[in-house]
Amino acid sequence: MTTWVFCEEQNGAPSASSLELLTKARSWGDVAVFYVGAGSDEAFAALGEYGATTIHQLDAGDALPAAVAAAAMSDLVAADDIALFGMGYTARDVAGRLSARLGCTVLSNATDIDLGGDQVRVSNEILGGTTRVITAATEGPVVVVVRPKVFAAEAGEGAIPPVTTVAVPDVGHAGAGTVLERHVEESEGPDLEAAAIVVGGGRGMGGADDKWEPVAKLAGLLGAAVGATRAVVDAGWVPYSLQIGQTGKTVKPDVYIACGISGAMQHLVGMKDSGLIVAINKDAEAPIFSIADLGVVGDVHKVVPALIEALEAR
Ligand SMILES: Cc1cc2nc3c(=O)[nH]c(=O)nc-3n(C[C@H](O)[C@H](O)[C@H](O)COP(=O)(O)OP(=O)(O)OC[C@H]3O[C@@H](n4cnc5c(N)ncnc54)[C@H](O)[C@@H]3O)c2cc1C
Repeated sequence: MTTWVFCEEQNGAPSASSLELLTKARSWGDVAVFYVGAGSDEAFAALGEYGATTIHQLDAGDALPAAVAAAAMSDLVAADDIALFGMGYTARDVAGRLSARLGCTVLSNATDIDLGGDQVRVSNEILGGTTRVITAATEGPVVVVVRPKVFAAEAGEGAIPPVTTVAVPDVGHAGAGTVLERHVEESEGPDLEAAAIVVGGGRGMGGADDKWEPVAKLAGLLGAAVGATRAVVDAGWVPYSLQIGQTGKTVKPDVYIACGISGAMQHLVGMKDSGLIVAINKDAEAPIFSIADLGVVGDVHKVVPALIEALEAR
């Protein structure tokens, strides 16, 4: 059995999710990385350090890579193999296409994977994280899409693995899409997905600009990243890149401060594994208090300015 880890190159480096998956998979034995991108000695060395024993590299240039990557991967993945994917757009696209080519199921949204006996057991959470489902795959290959940050990426001591170049297969019209332009959203402060402290704002902030300002100010004083609910993003107060939750980012900071957030399950799945959760909401019955370690029942426009004042007075 070989474990495959899908890795899409991002800014010249392996994706964060591939390093998390390698850390989990390396204790199972051989781990082959299917790498999509131009590649470099540094990127391959990092993959080796995190546990890759071989790398198969496909450089699709400016072509949309999912169709060709899935076709090439389907020739490599054997019947008793496991293929692990993160939740990036390309990764999910490849996982779906690969499962169709291999005639196997995709187990998605995984929060844990356990190899025991002749079964691969994959956990995922449903109903806003209140119920855990364990699915046992008795036949391979097994394609699993894993949620971000469920495994912590930890470097090991592996050397640079051998790298094999994979030819770009001809997939006809499916491979005709081309990337014309890449847009990098400008952001200030710490990276939301890596920040140790996140201040999240919800509809309870009441609006953009002046109304939103306390969230940004509190985050600035704490060296925190700013996050938001979908309600706030849909209202156009902040960009989508700040959205936390089921259809946004997953964060796992040491401290999450929720300001005017009700705690809908679609938001909770993106932040409930934070270390310490502080909630400020004027409604004592708000669901966010059910997962908060510390709760303040009050108006965000009184509580947050008071917090800012106390921090500024330090
Ligand atoms: C398929 C699907 C996917 C979704 N994906 C996401 C997702 O990824 N992320 C996400 O966040 N949501 C997502 N949602 C939306 C989600 O269901 C909720 O609608 C959303 O999270 C609510 O955002 P909110 O807490 O800001 O707003 P609300 O639910 O309106 O809550 C506002 C809260 O602010 C409090 N409040 C109001 N005024 C004040 C005040 N002055 N002081 C203190 N508290 C105050 C209220 O008591 C209330 O609890 C998704 C929904 C669907 C159907």
